[in-house]
Amino acid sequence: MSQALEVLKEYWGFTSFRPLQEEIIEEVLAGNDVLALMPTGGGKSLTFQVPGLLMDGVCVVISPLIALIKDQVANLKERKIAAEYIVSGMDFREIDRILDNCIYGDTKFLYVSPERLKNELFIERFKQMKVALIAVDESHCISQWGYDFRPSYLQIADSRQYQPKASILALTASATPSVVDDIQKRLEFSKKNVLSTSFERENLHYIVIEDENKRQRVLRGVQTREGSGIIYVRSRKLTRELALWLKNNGISAAPYHAGLSPELKDKTQEEWKKEKVRIIVATNAFGMGIDKANVRTVIHYDIPDSIEAYFQEAGRAGRDGLRAYAVLVYNKGDVIALKERIERGYPEISVIKKVYSGIANYYQLAFGSGMEESFNFDIIAIAERINLTVLQVFNSIKILERTGYYHLSDSLHQPSKLKIKVNQAELYYFEVANSKHELLIKTLLRSYSGLFDSYVKINEYLIAKRTRVDVKELVKQLKYLDSIELIDYLPANDKPKITFLVERIPEEHLEISYESYGALKEQQLKRGESMIAFVNAEKCRNIQLLEYFGETSAEECGKCDVCLRKKRAEGNDLELENNLVAVLKKGERGLNEILAELPRIEEDKILEILRFMADEGLVNRSKEDKWKWVG
Ligand code: ADP
Repeated sequence: MSQALEVLKEYWGFTSFRPLQEEIIEEVLAGNDVLALMPTGGGKSLTFQVPGLLMDGVCVVISPLIALIKDQVANLKERKIAAEYIVSGMDFREIDRILDNCIYGDTKFLYVSPERLKNELFIERFKQMKVALIAVDESHCISQWGYDFRPSYLQIADSRQYQPKASILALTASATPSVVDDIQKRLEFSKKNVLSTSFERENLHYIVIEDENKRQRVLRGVQTREGSGIIYVRSRKLTRELALWLKNNGISAAPYHAGLSPELKDKTQEEWKKEKVRIIVATNAFGMGIDKANVRTVIHYDIPDSIEAYFQEAGRAGRDGLRAYAVLVYNKGDVIALKERIERGYPEISVIKKVYSGIANYYQLAFGSGMEESFNFDIIAIAERINLTVLQVFNSIKILERTGYYHLSDSLHQPSKLKIKVNQAELYYFEVANSKHELLIKTLLRSYSGLFDSYVKINEYLIAKRTRVDVKELVKQLKYLDSIELIDYLPANDKPKITFLVERIPEEHLEISYESYGALKEQQLKRGESMIAFVNAEKCRNIQLLEYFGETSAEECGKCDVCLRKKRAEGNDLELENNLVAVLKKGERGLNEILAELPRIEEDKILEILRFMADEGLVNRSKEDKWKWVG
């Protein structure tokens, strides 16, 4: 048995590798740079985690998604693997401890966001580490041709010089052929080396529906299919409206978007994961890093901006390999809106300049100052001050962020953390001498382990309940213990933050190059056009998607809307369909009743045709689970 397989069994309890995992791991262990292309859910993480454990040194993982970073580190820690992360907004002392552990301690995995690589203090410590491997997640972000270019990724190549022995494993689930080339070039691969699995998702049925009455179609889409689902909508407002409308129509649904409180987000996610809520109606903020394998349906209630985005979101359905549906419902207005949206995403340069100066003034930054400073970020107040719309400010900031002027943290919840700074004996003396703090200290020690060694996440509400004081009083006590240096208490912070990456310059010196503006806009428009061509073309959806990602040998899937229509036009299943229609025209029927009337036909076949007719707007499924002819 290979060492890699042993590690897989020992730490993860899996008995075998998935396609391509072993090949990638072999390349990594041989010290070669490699780009691995695997669809979402293919199992990319293990391709650096397994060799990381076998290699001598630290594996630095670069990922732009803070939620995913936290999730993966928690996951590794559960398996007793020494892993840490550094993300913006963390306390300096904590970062210091983590970096120390990477140099002198036993940390095997260090997860960082790409912005960190620009930080001088980080670089100094990074140089001192023994780095065996640099894993670059979402590596398409390094390419301007990619749909999610992030300038901070360009830093990765620079950081290679400090660790010339470390090899690079670049990972992505989405790359067109030109992006594949670009990633390797930009990461300075010693030689070209790509390993990729097919992007084909055999269990996924792609269905595209054009209808002016999108709501009804979406309702039908979830009524006629079983199991958990995600509906992607464009705005926060729509998440609420559509979820409510579905609920009124007897479907268990809940809204989700980035503006909800962290508690509500967690609660909604949990309820959906545990199948207490069936359908989540979300903006595209939902999904990254969410590991739910049995999502049966993903519905797009609009046309996504690119095939890459569509493919990633649709791909969240059916990660368990069982039959699943990706349904896109759109109307004519959505096609026009897509183009307008892309145009609007690129405000005039003069507007961008105004936003840049306006923000600097808002935070009272003098010229030449502000570098690496972070502030709480309130876009509405800023837009009011500058006298522009929130959307104009938002889109300008996005360009400025892409150009490398700012970093905006997502407003993810950073839980409160606590560490005890004294040793056990000192703590004991303190308790004896200060009995009014005794209950709190005992409760902390009983509730959490490891407080003497590292920062531990704490929940003030829980501790307040256990010590029978109100939360405000508890926080006061904790702050007091912090002030006398008995503990280090880092209160939660869930406000979005803006960090200035370079010092303030006069707006006429602002460099918004063709690459970070004009070229991006053109590419974005092109991607939008490809997406529109995808919905319009009467060609197998599977073939279209795979061709877009450079796979030319794909065959017709036989289960997308185009293939099903074609089968129908060719007269396949015509007799069965006619019989089914005849049954339903007599009156509404439950599935069992239909099966009883058409005894020679398999249930699966009947359901396939019923769903197809529902998508075509010919039948409906009622709350009482009856199929009804409406054509
Ligand atoms: P990706 O990053 O490619 O989207 P992940 O690394 O998150 O995928 O893996 C998806 C899921 O598949 C995870 O739950 C992971 O534990 C599981 N998985 C990965 N490799 C294997 C394997 N060899 N055997 C069983 N499960 C695996």
